[in-house]
Amino acid sequence: MRSFALALGICLLPVAPAVQAEAPAVGTQVPGFYRLSVGDIEVTALYDGYLDLNSKILKNASPAEIQRLLARQFLEGEKVQTAVNAFLINTSGKLVLVDTGAAKSFGPSLGFVIDNLKAAGYQPEQVAVVLLTHLHGDHINGLLTAEGKPAFPNAEIRVSKADSDFWLSEAVAARKALFARAAKEKLALAGMHLPFPGIGHVRADGKAYAWVPVEFSPFRKEQ
Ligand SMILES: [Zn+2]
Repeated sequence: MRSFALALGICLLPVAPAVQAEAPAVGTQVPGFYRLSVGDIEVTALYDGYLDLNSKILKNASPAEIQRLLARQFLEGEKVQTAVNAFLINTSGKLVLVDTGAAKSFGPSLGFVIDNLKAAGYQPEQVAVVLLTHLHGDHINGLLTAEGKPAFPNAEIRVSKADSDFWLSEAVAARKALFARAAKEKLALAGMHLPFPGIGHVRADGKAYAWVPVEFSPFRKEQ
């Protein structure tokens, strides 16, 4: 059980006693979508859900060091909550979906891309292109419905031809180059497994990079 301390700036006004209607707890999270503009392009982050991954899969640090770093972020224990995100891009009225989430193949905590796409005001039939970043199950399994039908029936599916080569040989170098460039040029990044909405910047921090997530903000068209 977490403990919360709320600091509230409260201005107390006398209020006429109202009839107290019962308000049962809801017990679920609000829909997971978040929208921002990149010039004329609208990007809507869609939350597929989460996975509790074992922190043992983290590399290049001792278990004690990993626990110290998690504690610094007010996290603890062996499991680390990891988001699965997809991104819907509206460019000149054409919808491009980047990744499709895991569907229900990784358990009940994932598989909400379509629910959240609908909550964001769209229908799966409107998606014209599905772009797959890579061919892992948590990115592609959402291509099919539970009945095995195409989840985005009107979409052209695209995946990089060099996908396997890239991930097997050049991934580390490419990632390092991307981080350096993103930090220097202040590029906004979107990540499939970063805490929802998975959008933010990276800041050079010694030899490493720190993730600076976007703050919840109104939808404002970029100038
Ligand atoms: Zn993944």
